[in-house]
Amino acid sequence: MSAVVDRLATLAQLGSHENGIDRALATVQERAAREQFAAWARERGYALAQDTVGNLFARRSGLREGARCVLVGSHLDTVPTGGAFDGAYGVVGALCALEALDARSIGTEHPVEAVAWAGEEGARFPLGCLGSSVFTGAYEERHALALRDASGTSLGEALASAETGLLEGVPMREDARLAAYLELHVEQGPVLEREGIALGIVTAIAGQRRYRVTVDGSSGHAGTVPMARRGDALMSAAEIVLAVERAALVAGETVVTVGTFAVEPNAPNVIPGRATFSVDVRAADDARIDAVEGALRTSTSDVTERRRVTASVERLESRAPAPMDPKLRAAVARAIASIGERAIDVPSGAGHDAMCLSRVAPAAMIFVPSIGGRSHVAQEETAPRDLELGVEALVASIVEVDKFVI
Ligand SMILES: [Zn+2]
Repeated sequence: MSAVVDRLATLAQLGSHENGIDRALATVQERAAREQFAAWARERGYALAQDTVGNLFARRSGLREGARCVLVGSHLDTVPTGGAFDGAYGVVGALCALEALDARSIGTEHPVEAVAWAGEEGARFPLGCLGSSVFTGAYEERHALALRDASGTSLGEALASAETGLLEGVPMREDARLAAYLELHVEQGPVLEREGIALGIVTAIAGQRRYRVTVDGSSGHAGTVPMARRGDALMSAAEIVLAVERAALVAGETVVTVGTFAVEPNAPNVIPGRATFSVDVRAADDARIDAVEGALRTSTSDVTERRRVTASVERLESRAPAPMDPKLRAAVARAIASIGERAIDVPSGAGHDAMCLSRVAPAAMIFVPSIGGRSHVAQEETAPRDLELGVEALVASIVEVDKFVI
């Protein structure tokens, strides 16, 4: 078994339960994964460092004095029913890439660091890409440490504990100057598998907006109120839901999801007086997201004019699309061609740490296929040969990127 496959199997034991892997930030299981990463790095003599929110780095020195580092990595945390590849593959892949450089006696001008970002999934503390957000200055460290989980424990408290906290004997990272960022990840969608191609170069990470829509009508007896006199909150909400679906289809390359929907009082013989639902819209450019938001607002005001209801739309979250760096993408494409492989351009509908990194340094991502396009489930899987090929593409990309960024 190759090192990447073998190590992913080792990590998959940590937090494993009958419905998948549960390895949330600053838990016993997640700390064990960080310890395992540190043990592998120490075996190879890489210099370890961490920061106050639990990001962990393993550094292979560069040849040029004072050169900024090429950072390569992903995350070790999972959703509560996660798979063995999302995140862990990019961390293990980065470490294997450093070892491949050693094994082939390839020196790089820049130091190259494998990084395990803390808390990408936001499964426990309410912030996605937590570690990379703090690292890049998008989110303040003290605010991150003050975030609390559902039981009231703060991240700061969890990271101060010996069982769940920062690693002993690992110094704080000092060097923050970046030359470039590369992230290897499973696609988590079906495009590469469908195209029969093992490697994808990410064009952009989709922007995302999330809304809460509340429609208030008047509840009443299901048998006695004539249709023309009703203010049915659910029927009105249904129009809005279908309007945003149409808008996403018209915009193209846009996905919209109504993932939560609550009806009050939620009884079969009572006209719904209130309907509350979420709308999550994602696309690689803001114009498409704007189009769906426009349809959401227009259809909402439309139902309030035609039906006896009032309605409100609150925007809860907005994340701009993150295009990957064109020069870095070109370097990755050259690297993949140099090892005799093919790659296609793919967008990323899911968020990644590369999104945060792209705001402070040139960033690029390499995808490998997910079998059946499945992710965030126990059945998440990628073929061993694709895992190995992704690491080879990463090694070649590091060598190529090293040539032109200083
Ligand atoms: Zn991930």
